[in-house]
Amino acid sequence: MNLDPWSLFKASIEGNELGTAIIAIDTLKKNFEYLLKNSKFESLQLDFNINIFLRNKIKNNDFSTELLYIDNGAILEISFGKFVFPNGEQNKEYSKFFIKDITTKRRQEEEIAWRLRFELGVASSIQILIQQPSVKEGLPSALYQLLNFTEMDSVFFLKYEPLENKDRFKLWANERKTTKYPLLPIQFYNEDWYDLGLGRWLHKLKRGSTIHLNPKKAFRREKWFFEETKADTILLIPVRFENKFLGVMGFFKYKQNSPVEHENLLIYQTVSRWMGLFVQRDMDLSELNRYKSTLESLVLERTVALTKTKEELERAYKAKTEFLAHMSHELRTPLNSIIGFSKLIQLPDTDETGKEYLNYIYTGGTRLLNMINEILNLMKIESGQIKVQLTTFRPEDICRQSLELIQPQANAKKMEIRFRPPLESKPVTSDSGKILQILLNLLSNAIKYTNHPYIELDCEWVGDSLEISVRDFGPGISEEDQNRIFHTFTRLNDDGNIEGTGLGLTISQGLAIRLGGHLGLQSQWGQGSVFKLKLPEIIK
Ligand code: ADP
Repeated sequence: MNLDPWSLFKASIEGNELGTAIIAIDTLKKNFEYLLKNSKFESLQLDFNINIFLRNKIKNNDFSTELLYIDNGAILEISFGKFVFPNGEQNKEYSKFFIKDITTKRRQEEEIAWRLRFELGVASSIQILIQQPSVKEGLPSALYQLLNFTEMDSVFFLKYEPLENKDRFKLWANERKTTKYPLLPIQFYNEDWYDLGLGRWLHKLKRGSTIHLNPKKAFRREKWFFEETKADTILLIPVRFENKFLGVMGFFKYKQNSPVEHENLLIYQTVSRWMGLFVQRDMDLSELNRYKSTLESLVLERTVALTKTKEELERAYKAKTEFLAHMSHELRTPLNSIIGFSKLIQLPDTDETGKEYLNYIYTGGTRLLNMINEILNLMKIESGQIKVQLTTFRPEDICRQSLELIQPQANAKKMEIRFRPPLESKPVTSDSGKILQILLNLLSNAIKYTNHPYIELDCEWVGDSLEISVRDFGPGISEEDQNRIFHTFTRLNDDGNIEGTGLGLTISQGLAIRLGGHLGLQSQWGQGSVFKLKLPEIIK
């Protein structure tokens, strides 16, 4: 077996994937010579002088790893390792060094970094668009951002806005990496593309295809566009939303022979899909705003019309109220005379017919006067003229007063009124006259419209609320009629036998509200009725 050390050394470096050499360094002369090279080293095509490089390293005693960028674009990594040479000469050091061509690895790393940067640019420009209230506002900065992170030199967005069935565009943004690149030719977005010789592009774009062209591949009639824009590569991507053509995103590259790689193309197409989404969002929003403003002006119009109608109604109502109040007043004076004089006229007992007529005049007049008084009352309530006179009193006293006054009417029908005063006797601050008026009306109705031997008057405190109820056991009021009877001149089953105007409950309810309270009714057909007056302890 041949154990020659040179063969052993040679074998140890031969299998190395890197170009490897062993050198002997003369430490005094600062020189070196090759002892061994592996075949990889021998085959290296180095178009730079490795010897000068090594001599420099030796001179500086620097054996750190180094990257060399060679003119032809290659990148070399040169590193050193220790080498112990057993039979070495004095004044000589031995070293092993490796040369590795890392051009591909570096390129790949650069590629990854570039792609990362590119995607970052895309993401950040989309981010800008998301944050802006409208695409149009955010578009210039978003596209500028995109541009700075990508290979492209200029970018634009044309919004498709057909006019009277003609294809037209509006320029929404045109950004360039530097101002040395020209802006988009005006006719490109102002004129018909077919007239400009670019009809083929529009046709393709509207069908959803991307246009990736350079001057060589362009049709003759399209060449002017490259001359005008000075672009070497143009990329036109349709912006669409649900198959609707919304516009064109365009990119230019000015560097010669640098087409857009397929992978990047996909990313630009993704950007344009996002654009479609944003543009559609903007269009939806502006349509919504249009509806909103139409609606607003419609509402305004209606409000003006309604205000006018309301004012007219108010004027008419005021005139009616004034007329009625005036009339009622004017009517009362002659009526009082009629009633008064009919009382004074003395007819001989023999004149039965005359006395009967006189009685008609008297009762008719009194009824009319009653009605006029009620109308006057109602008018005052409705026009808000009614004044509240506050005093503090015990509610049971008012109830008793009402019983006294209504007693003759109850007696006439042989009806008993059962009164239940409150368990707790405490004062209320309200208008006693108006409460009395309400109670008289409710009691009078209960007597008039029922025939049971008795009715009930209950007065009680429920917390801070005073509740006075008039209960009868008469026919009751159907659910349907319960609301109606509070309206003016509503009389149920008005056969003329029972006197009344149909105003009492309307007035009572108006008064209850004026006193800060409420007049309610609980009744069932055939089960009697309960009218309940609820009042606060103190009117606020
Ligand atoms: P008036 O008694 O003058 O007709 P109201 O406004 O006081 O006017 O009452 C309206 C109508 O409600 C009455 O005509 C009557 O038909 C009905 N009504 C009122 N109170 C009762 C009652 N306790 N039971 C049955 N019906 C009643």
